[in-house]
Amino acid sequence: MSHPLAESTSVFKNIKSQNMEKWNLIIDVAECTNCNNCFLACKDEYVGNDFPGYSAPQPLHGHKWFYIESREHGQYPMVDVAYRPTTCNMCDDAPCVRNSADGAVYQRPDGIVMIDPDKARGNPDIVNSCPYGAIWWNEEEQVAQKWNFDAHLLTGENLDCAVSRSVPRVFFAVSK
Ligand code: SF4
Ligand code: SF4
Repeated sequence: MSHPLAESTSVFKNIKSQNMEKWNLIIDVAECTNCNNCFLACKDEYVGNDFPGYSAPQPLHGHKWFYIESREHGQYPMVDVAYRPTTCNMCDDAPCVRNSADGAVYQRPDGIVMIDPDKARGNPDIVNSCPYGAIWWNEEEQVAQKWNFDAHLLTGENLDCAVSRSVPRVFFAVSK
């Protein structure tokens, strides 16, 4: 499946390769109004919820697995603010994966970059392996964490992630 926005305004756009199906989350940043529904949907899904094999609970405060960057531009009285929702890019050839010698951070065949909540425990250096600031340290759980594409929901017949369900201006598609 291909969406025209995928070629121009993709925040999450996995590189197409080897005819392999990969998940893509495509956000039209020009339409972002800073409503923070993506941030809240992520909180709603992960705070206090343990998904064994996928992720430990996200703390209530401090973490921003989704966050909205903003930048003002123009001169008074003609000013505007541009917003850019930001999260893990699910990079191909990801630095976080390359720096993980023990397999605590890995990329699945469908493109999703995962942090194993058990293997990653006790290793805060994982946070610094992401040059985009997408990984957070959970002091309570003693584990590095980030958004993992709601991988726990993308199983069997269920192919709908919490963030895509909850945000009004996010396009969500799988492509190969
Ligand atoms: S839900 Fe959509 S419009 Fe709202 S902040 Fe997130 S990306 Fe922007
Ligand atoms: S954690 Fe950072 S380096 Fe790793 S895939 Fe996500 S954005 Fe890329």
